[in-house]
Amino acid sequence: MRGAVLRKLAIFALPVVLFVTACLVLPHLAALPPARRELALSAPYLVTVVGMSLSFAFGRGRVFLMLLLVGVCYWSFRTYLQNGMNGFAPQMVFLSLSLFLPINITLFSFIRERGVMTLSGRMRFTFLALQAVAVVWIIRYQQDYSGLPQFFSKELVHIPLLSSLTLPQPALFLTVAGSLVISARAFIRQSPIDSAFFGSLVAVAFACNGLMSADVPVVFISAAALMLAVSVIQDSHNMAFRDDLTGLPSRRALNEQMSGLPRRYVIAMLDVDHFKSFNDRYGHDVGDQVLKMVAKKLAAVRGGGRAYRYGGEEFTIIMPRKGMAEAIPFLEEVRKNIADYRLVLRGNDRPSETKEGKKLRNSERNDSSVSVTISIGVAECSDTLRSAEDVLKAADKALYRAKGKGRNQLSK
Ligand code: GH3
Ligand code: MG
Ligand code: MG
Repeated sequence: MRGAVLRKLAIFALPVVLFVTACLVLPHLAALPPARRELALSAPYLVTVVGMSLSFAFGRGRVFLMLLLVGVCYWSFRTYLQNGMNGFAPQMVFLSLSLFLPINITLFSFIRERGVMTLSGRMRFTFLALQAVAVVWIIRYQQDYSGLPQFFSKELVHIPLLSSLTLPQPALFLTVAGSLVISARAFIRQSPIDSAFFGSLVAVAFACNGLMSADVPVVFISAAALMLAVSVIQDSHNMAFRDDLTGLPSRRALNEQMSGLPRRYVIAMLDVDHFKSFNDRYGHDVGDQVLKMVAKKLAAVRGGGRAYRYGGEEFTIIMPRKGMAEAIPFLEEVRKNIADYRLVLRGNDRPSETKEGKKLRNSERNDSSVSVTISIGVAECSDTLRSAEDVLKAADKALYRAKGKGRNQLSK
């Protein structure tokens, strides 16, 4: 259990590493000779442009627009805020950035990916552009909005530590709330892009807060842009190596893993019983739900096992550094967990009140939940089965024996 949580926390590894790197680089920026410093000041633009090109090439519209936002944020810092925050226009620019950034990043982490140049992509761009137009409008007609800066930088609670921050309290609270929501989402969905959204939200808040020093925005905006850019690559890697429906590593990941196994290991092949008739009976959507449930139970296998989706309703578990006798109790536990689990059907998944539906409903003891069983075949590497491919074939043969003996059981 603890191992599983730790493994899931690894989704935050990249943002954390980049954030720490930014903090370490920060003190060295001031010591750079002027020419190099000038170069460093354009680093955020460079990373943003590279990231936007990547997101464009991979069709990642959300990341593309967030990078654009981060780039615009840095440009605004350099253009309007270099000489401090005196006057209405710089104050409004700063407040808008510190408020709009957390709102947009949180919002964009919730919407679905819809590409860059698609209709949705363009509408989302328009949505962001309108915000910029609104800020320009407010600055242009500032006499009508002279109370806005005070309103948006209001102190909501009096805590001395918070009062010492440049970031106004409303922006700070939005950032904290957004970070909590996005990080929870990234943790649950294990999505590198969500994790980068979380990291960039925090990094951008640090950049806003440290605005008075030119170096702070440089390192934190660069870090934010780098998180987003790399997450596009991570996401594409995941798409190639992770099964979309179940979230388990795919056949390709299994093939790679099989070429690097330790001397001792066990391979189990697992197959859902009578799944074709299950699908015919309850429909493909319920079938998919069941596959997800089975995958979740398999992923939770104890004893250091790793589950893969082999294809269709067939799965593979590899247990490194285990012999057959040690591995079987863990596999049996998984088999029992699945057989005991009753998947509750939502209203629209239940067979309807047609004749057919009634027949189906009557044939089930409990019409609002379903259950499935799996059969398992196990084999271990030995003198006769030397290669992982041979062990897998042997496990597959054992699986057929388990099916032949009546299913919902394990065979060696
Ligand atoms: P057995 O107990 O012998 O394994 O019988 P079975 O019906 O499970 O075996 P068979 O291999 O004939 O059927 C596999 C079925 O799995 C066929 C297909 O409808 C279903 N299936 C494969 N992939 C998916 C998927 O991604 N989603 C859903 N819903 N069904 C799938
Ligand atoms: Mg089957
Ligand atoms: Mg099958």
